[in-house]
Amino acid sequence: MTSETPRPAPRPAPAGAGVDLTSRTALVTGGGSGIGKACAAALAGAGATVHVVDRDAESARKAAAEIGGEAHVVDLADPVALDTLPTEVDILVNNAGLQHVAPLTEFPPERFDLIQRVMVTAPFLLMRRSLPHMYGQGWGRLINVSSVHGLRASAYKSAYVTAKHALEGLSKVAAIEGAPHGVTSNCVNPGYVRTPLVENQIRDQAAAHGISAGDVLTDVLLTRSPVKRLLEPEEVAAAALWLCADHSSYVTGISLPLDGGWGAG
Ligand code: NAD
Repeated sequence: MTSETPRPAPRPAPAGAGVDLTSRTALVTGGGSGIGKACAAALAGAGATVHVVDRDAESARKAAAEIGGEAHVVDLADPVALDTLPTEVDILVNNAGLQHVAPLTEFPPERFDLIQRVMVTAPFLLMRRSLPHMYGQGWGRLINVSSVHGLRASAYKSAYVTAKHALEGLSKVAAIEGAPHGVTSNCVNPGYVRTPLVENQIRDQAAAHGISAGDVLTDVLLTRSPVKRLLEPEEVAAAALWLCADHSSYVTGISLPLDGGWGAG
């Protein structure tokens, strides 16, 4: 292999390796696809009972069935629908998200509002509902799937960048309030992950820039990442799982970049 040959992604450690979540209950939003599905599988692999929440009924049921979990078909943009979800949750993974790519001057206000409801208000409401149980038992884990875009901005992503920065703030407040109760709250901050969300973005960016999908990957998405490959969902799930372990109880209020060195430049 020459130094120019792209290296394949390393095989992540088996789900659950070194982390015992037997007797823990987790709720993963957007658990039907991509990163959420990988998180649900990793948590179940470590022994947790997992509630898979997604608005897409088929993918929620399929993902839950694969891991012996329970599916909840809920639209997180609807605060009333959240009341149907369980509150006795030890691990909350706020993962569901969506993207919309457009210049600020053309950004549809209703898309902006929807993205804030799904990616900021729903995590807040789910924390608010599950924290009393976590505080009561003196243990809890809030995993907030943020993004490199929680720490820095890109053009055409005003709603997404705004929402992820807000999630970062929410996560830090939860870390400070949760600390006396044994509850940690952390963000994981992936670069570009091989999921349907990114595949859709590649299509949208190709249209916006008038270039091919292949050129979007090399010339737009990965220009700032020294590691020239997409991240795999299982690699994000491995980081989330590590944050759920008892040995991570001193790690709280952080934002963990999984960015292939993007932030180092
Ligand atoms: P994905 O599109 O594969 O999965 C997102 C899931 O969320 C889908 O199953 C979808 O149905 C669900 N969802 C969306 N809106 C919902 C709603 N209103 N109610 C209920 N469920 C809803 O996306 P992904 O790439 O796995 O992204 C997951 C999270 O990771 C998002 O928060 C995203 O911002 C973040 N993230 C992704 C990347 C990436 O490159 N893919 C990078 C950084 C951060």
